Amino acid sequence: SLPCRLDKYLCHNLVLTRSQVKTLLKSSEILLDGDVCKFGKQIITQEQVVTYQGKHITHRGHRYYQLNKPKGWVCDRDNPHYPCAIDLISDPVADELQVVGRLDADTTGLLLISSDGKWSQLVRSPNQNKFKTYQVELSQSISDAQIAQLEQGVELNAEPKPTLPAHCKRLNDNQIEISIQEGRYHQVKRMFAAVGNKVISLHRCQIAHIPLDPNLKPSESRLLNEAEIQGIP
Ligand code: URA
Repeated sequence: SLPCRLDKYLCHNLVLTRSQVKTLLKSSEILLDGDVCKFGKQIITQEQVVTYQGKHITHRGHRYYQLNKPKGWVCDRDNPHYPCAIDLISDPVADELQVVGRLDADTTGLLLISSDGKWSQLVRSPNQNKFKTYQVELSQSISDAQIAQLEQGVELNAEPKPTLPAHCKRLNDNQIEISIQEGRYHQVKRMFAAVGNKVISLHRCQIAHIPLDPNLKPSESRLLNEAEIQGIP
């Protein structure tokens, strides 16, 4: 558990002896937040990222990323019309990566991508404390009545259960921030259609406690830190 010493962290997570770790540290191949670290006594915290040969060293041996998805990229690998967003990440074992919670081709913003199937499952499962937040631009101004309906739950065509209550924050007449727990097919677009409006653009800015990193330009990605990985409720 963190915080702990870097040498101990490497012993444990790479399954190496103390003397092997010493040699490794001398080789300058261990990076701490992107900079070479040769100091075994260095205390590392949950907010830091340790890498070895370009791979993120976590206690699970998996990799976790966030990507600022641009328009025109999809989440499946074999789409005939659009490239796959996973290809925007340069990972040594990209085959093992999966998108966690899909976005439509025309939706932008926060996409989580990981090699850890169990973690992905945890992130995807709907939960009271785990909202996904979207910034939405609409074709018509949004009324208080529409907001009230969305917050209560709306019926989507041909689905037996109404949506779970959403949280809404009006940004201006035509723009709103909406937070939802579920991830049904085209859910946000269909929710606004159900109350008589129409989504013009959609941008995901947060998943649970993980906001989209404001330093990431469209198409850019970074490794998640330990606090982001571990904080999923
Ligand atoms: N809801 C949608 O309609 N599209 C997305 O991409 C995400 C949520």
